[in-house]
Amino acid sequence: MRIVLLGAPGSGKGTQCKQIVARYGLLHLSSGDILRQERASGTELGKKAQSYMDSGALVPDEIIIEMMAKAIEKAPDAGFVLDGFPRTLNQAVELDKSLARDGLAIDIILNLEVDDSIVTGRITGRRSCPKCGAVYHIENMKPKSEGLCDNDDAELIQRPDDTAEVVANRLETYHRQTKPLVNYYKNNGTVFDIDAGRSADEVKVALFEKLDALVAT
Ligand code: AMP
Repeated sequence: MRIVLLGAPGSGKGTQCKQIVARYGLLHLSSGDILRQERASGTELGKKAQSYMDSGALVPDEIIIEMMAKAIEKAPDAGFVLDGFPRTLNQAVELDKSLARDGLAIDIILNLEVDDSIVTGRITGRRSCPKCGAVYHIENMKPKSEGLCDNDDAELIQRPDDTAEVVANRLETYHRQTKPLVNYYKNNGTVFDIDAGRSADEVKVALFEKLDALVAT
């Protein structure tokens, strides 16, 4: 199964991806996570991406398309879930072309729909563990001890691009450059729209129901 998860920053793409890959044995490919790893390792790619990411802008297409093509090559036959990629029309077209060269296509696009006001609260309250990557929220998903990771006691941090100012830019970027992809995919694929303003569990149940039906066909 090859899945694309679409949605604004904070719509729950990362959370839902983790559940989906665990249930269906797929590879989770998050372009944001790959970029953050490249930055942490100090690679040329990471250095090039840095200023775009910190301001909430998109990293140029040519960098991302090549990076994700390499990641997709390593996916198991069971398939993958793309999280945060594609984010521009050009990226979507190039993805479709490169899959088509291998006789493949995206099976379903899961479109997580949620209001900007909800995602802003979700993102600015988000804290993560620099050691194990666990994600918390200062109100909705508190760690057992304030500011510390439940798994390894590491001090939780706020991603530099999760501040209110950068989040406003990321949302503007999403509406201008990524939202048009929904229409592209409605004309070129199967899109499942889902109300992602609900709890993560409710969204998960609805997604599993849809994907179980797809697997059964
Ligand atoms: P994310 O964790 O998915 O919100 O991504 C964090 C940042 O990485 C974004 O704000 C962009 O600067 C960059 N990024 C991630 N995925 C892409 C993509 N597909 N195209 C361009 N930039 C991306």
